[in-house]
Amino acid sequence: MFLLIKQTQDGERKQLTQLRDVLKASLQSEQKEDVQAKQSAGYSLHQLQGNKAHGTECSGFLYKKSEGLRKVWQKRKCSVKNGFLTISHGTANRPPAKLNLLTCQVKRNPDEKKSFDLFSHDRTYHFQAEDEAECQVWVSVLQNSKEEALNKAFKGDQDEGENNIVQELTRAIVGEVKRMSGNDGCCDCGAQGPTWLSTNLGVLICIECSGIHREMGVHYSRIQSLDLDVLGTSELLLAKNVGNANFNEIMEADLSAQDVTKPDPTSDMQMRKDYITAKYTEKRFARRLCADAASRLRALYEAVRTRDILALMQIYAEGVDLREAITQPNEHVR
Ligand SMILES: [Zn+2]
Repeated sequence: MFLLIKQTQDGERKQLTQLRDVLKASLQSEQKEDVQAKQSAGYSLHQLQGNKAHGTECSGFLYKKSEGLRKVWQKRKCSVKNGFLTISHGTANRPPAKLNLLTCQVKRNPDEKKSFDLFSHDRTYHFQAEDEAECQVWVSVLQNSKEEALNKAFKGDQDEGENNIVQELTRAIVGEVKRMSGNDGCCDCGAQGPTWLSTNLGVLICIECSGIHREMGVHYSRIQSLDLDVLGTSELLLAKNVGNANFNEIMEADLSAQDVTKPDPTSDMQMRKDYITAKYTEKRFARRLCADAASRLRALYEAVRTRDILALMQIYAEGVDLREAITQPNEHVR
C-alpha cells in the first residue's frame, strides 16, 4: 500500500541485508577456521587433485592387502558413490565396509606402481589395481567424490546458517514489536495479546478485529499472523517503526472530541465493524494538521525526504493516497 514508505523501507532493508551479510561472513570464517583446525590436526591441507574427466563414481575390482600378520592381496569388489567407498567382503553374507571419504585421505606411494593407500580415521588400506591406468582412475574418482561431498556439506551448512540467522533476526524483531508501546492490546478493541499484524499499517490486532481488516481488503490493511506466518524482515519494518500507541495517537486523536466510544474485547462484530470502517477507510477520528492540499503536499515531500514514517502516517491520516506518485512542491523546483 505505501509506495512511499517502501522507499524509506529500502534504506532499512539495505541495512538489514548488510547486517545479515556481516553475520554470514563471520559465520563462514568460523566454519573455515573449524575445518582448517581439523585438517591441520590430522591431514595435510595439500591434497591430491583428481582428474575431473574420470567423474565421481566407479566400481570394479581392487586388490586389498589383508590386515594381520599374513599380508595377502585379496580381490574385492569396490565402488565409489556419493562420497563413500564401499568394499565388499570375501564372504558374501557379511555386510560391506563403507568408508566416508570426507574423513579419509588418498595417497599414492611413489615407489609402488598401480597401487595407492587410503587413510581412514582408524586404519590404513593398501589397494592395488589391475594396472597403472586403472589405478589413476580409482585415485581420481576417490578425490572427485570426496570433493563433491565436501562441496555439498559446505553448501548445506551455509544455507542452514543463513536461514538460522534470518529466523533468529525475525524472532528478535517480533519479540521487540510485541513489547512496543500499546502493542500489548489490540489496536482497535484493546483485547490482550494481539497476534495479528497489519503489515502495511504496522499495528497489532486481535483475531476478531483481523477479520474486519481482511474484509476491508488489502488496499486498507494487509493481515498476517505474527505466530503462524513466515514473516520477512521487510514485513516487520513498519511494525517496528509504528506500533499501536503511535498509530492511535494519530488515528484516534479526535475520539473524545467526537464523543465516540471505542470497542472493547466484549463488543459485538457489528460495533467493531462500524468503528474499524470509520477509523481506517474514512479516517474519521484522525488528527488533522494540514489546512489544504498544498500544505499536505509539502508535508508529504518533507516526510519522504527525512524518511519519517510517523510523519508519513500523519499524511496518510489526512487522506493522501500514498500510492500516487509524488510531485515536487514548487519551491523545490529550480
Ligand atoms: Zn480487537
